[in-house]
Amino acid sequence: MTDVTDAETRLLKWFDPRQKEMVSLLEQLVNTDSGSADKPGVDAAGAVLLQFFSKVGIQTDMVRDEARGDAIVATVQSRTASNVQPIVLMGHRDTVFEKGEAARRPFHIRDGRAFGPGVNDMKSGVVINAFVLAAFQELGGLPTPLTGLFTGDEEVASPFSRPIIERQAREAFAVFNAEPARPSGNIVTRRKGGVFSLLEVFGKAAHSGVNFFDGASAINELADKIVRLKELTDERRGITVNVGLIRGGQTVNTVAPYAAAEIDVRFVEQNDRATSFSSIQKIADECRVDGTSATLTIKGEFLPLEETSASRYLFETYKTAALHLGIEISGEHTGGCADSGFASAQGAPTLCGVGAVGGKSHTPDEYIELPSLLDRAKVLALAIHRVSANSARSRTRGS
Ligand SMILES: [Zn+2]
Repeated sequence: MTDVTDAETRLLKWFDPRQKEMVSLLEQLVNTDSGSADKPGVDAAGAVLLQFFSKVGIQTDMVRDEARGDAIVATVQSRTASNVQPIVLMGHRDTVFEKGEAARRPFHIRDGRAFGPGVNDMKSGVVINAFVLAAFQELGGLPTPLTGLFTGDEEVASPFSRPIIERQAREAFAVFNAEPARPSGNIVTRRKGGVFSLLEVFGKAAHSGVNFFDGASAINELADKIVRLKELTDERRGITVNVGLIRGGQTVNTVAPYAAAEIDVRFVEQNDRATSFSSIQKIADECRVDGTSATLTIKGEFLPLEETSASRYLFETYKTAALHLGIEISGEHTGGCADSGFASAQGAPTLCGVGAVGGKSHTPDEYIELPSLLDRAKVLALAIHRVSANSARSRTRGS
């Protein structure tokens, strides 16, 4: 079953002499600052990719935005019919790092690992996707078209890119998201969904010595709410409620007129979003300190990546492809959110974590295992080749 065809051998051989080129594209991307809020930076990282695609003859379209980095849609035409569902490769080129980070600690390699801002999350995955597209472009395409989607606002929950991802996913035969693999090398078959929200409490200021009882303390009310929010975590169902930030008050001798908390709710099943969020809303609405009121505002949202029989088939195909290259992997569940949830919520079979192997994302110690850049590109290419061949077979059977 793990026998490879001649076409697959040709495909894998295409990658072998290209490790250096892959590392050099990665270096260029890592050394281009592209924090989500830095549109010129995210677009500069996009320009690096556009240059690469034009060199290898891949057609690109841009979806532009005023505030966020433009989205790039790169297309490798199918070898045969044109009205065929594409396979979508997703990746984001924004990072969590501020401008100047790349100059402070530029791309470098030490002991078989590569370092630098965004090297793991997820500029290495972007490089893998770019080279997989290039391979199929040069080798004449697949039975299905390939769409590479390169977005620039994932780290802030994709306010601009979400509808673009959803549109692509609705059409897709399968979606692969090249977020990094786990440090163990395993990939991600299930992700939690999450909602970031802001809870603001409004009270009434008063002098704490002169007219204490005229005041209404927003801090007291928020403290009471936080205790109630804590009760919503349900470990068994995979629901967590984290109050990650609090602020408030005016001075030590003033009854606090304002206090706020930022809340991160995570859940495994989309159904749990409604129930946990209505509980939070209830806590927001019910103020126990007289004279206070509160509002709850959603700031960002990720949908869960749920497992389906179709996504399990993608996983099995990927796993078998990895095994052919001598790599043993399993699927893991994670509480981390990503764009793959938006794709999977549209009903597209979706696999996540098919990027390079690495860890410590969002920290200065972020790294990838350098050999995994080439290895995982080969695994992904082989898996896509097989999924595409299979889609052609099921079409012939079905029609
Ligand atoms: Zn990421």
